[in-house]
Amino acid sequence: MPVPAPFEVAVNLRNNPRAMDDRYPLNTLLAPPPSQSAAPATTQQQQHPQPTPARWQRSLAAAVTRPAELLELLGLDAGLPALDGSALRDFPLRVPHSFVARMRFGDPRDPLFLQVWPASAEALDAPGFALDAVGDLAKLKPGGLIHKYQGRALVVATGACAVHCRYCFRRHFPYSDAIAARGAWRETLDQLAADTSVEEAILSGGDPLALSDDKLAAFAVGLEALPNIRRLRLHTRVPVVLPERVDDALCAWLTRSRLQKVVVLHINHPQEIDAEVGAALARLRATGATLLNQAVLLKGVNDSADTLVALSEKTFAHGVLPYYLHVLDRVQGAAHFDVDGTTASQLMRDISARLPGYLLPRLVREIAGAPAKTLLPW
Ligand code: SF4
Repeated sequence: MPVPAPFEVAVNLRNNPRAMDDRYPLNTLLAPPPSQSAAPATTQQQQHPQPTPARWQRSLAAAVTRPAELLELLGLDAGLPALDGSALRDFPLRVPHSFVARMRFGDPRDPLFLQVWPASAEALDAPGFALDAVGDLAKLKPGGLIHKYQGRALVVATGACAVHCRYCFRRHFPYSDAIAARGAWRETLDQLAADTSVEEAILSGGDPLALSDDKLAAFAVGLEALPNIRRLRLHTRVPVVLPERVDDALCAWLTRSRLQKVVVLHINHPQEIDAEVGAALARLRATGATLLNQAVLLKGVNDSADTLVALSEKTFAHGVLPYYLHVLDRVQGAAHFDVDGTTASQLMRDISARLPGYLLPRLVREIAGAPAKTLLPW
């Protein structure tokens, strides 16, 4: 599969603040190859050399960002209707090559493709679909903290993601105002220290694993110094879309931490798990982390009993317990993924007849202002 040159990709990323960790800024990728680099390093460059990007960071920089390129890679019709203009610029296409490689060639209904394709349907007006679907902004505190539920606080660590999921409930989130990693976590840690009722810090985003391990390890060390914090939870899709991210550096700081670790993965379809993802999940498990999965129920992607049963079976085969099946958060641009309540209930009844209870995810909806996720009856 052809991979675009880093220089070309970096130019594509230039205007996208969600694209990558600022530890590895575009100048790392924009540097000309050694053969073209005639000028000697400045004194400042010699004293503060840029860190060498890890393999996963190079993969991230090489992600597919142009709709035409994705269609070409998959042998799809170049005329497939796509979002364009400012709407696409605000939430661009982004998908790593390894995730593209798991899509079926020539199939516009492929469930992985549908999750990342910026369909023209995103531009349609849908009553009841809002910019802030779950009321995050009303709960946002300094340091990127969102404190909705008793005993837990969510940290908006970064706006960057390895993949842009078209149904994302934070697709319109003003990340520039609330990124905890900026400022070396000080404000976030101060807030967590001041509220001793918080026992669990939840790293979210964006995707926290888009941050460098130096930043993440520094946050874990800061948390470990707070006697009230017992658990660190990571919500991430990165191990699934960019499995090489689960490398030695990540596993080292996770293993070292005294905190109980919970990694909540976001896997929506069994086709997302290949051998490389399986190996990444095994490495995560070996750090002592508990692995859970939360999926989003998505029309055209996983709204069949066969798919949901296979998802639970396959995640569990890799040591990941099914946790939540979320109905769609009603965010503007995602209405075409919505599955109605009657269908969701029927699906739960169907899969409950085929799965042992411990493989049955809980059907939930997040309701703005509610003290917990709301369990939906079926
Ligand atoms: S669903 Fe998660 S990984 Fe996907 S775009 Fe949203 S925050 Fe990023």
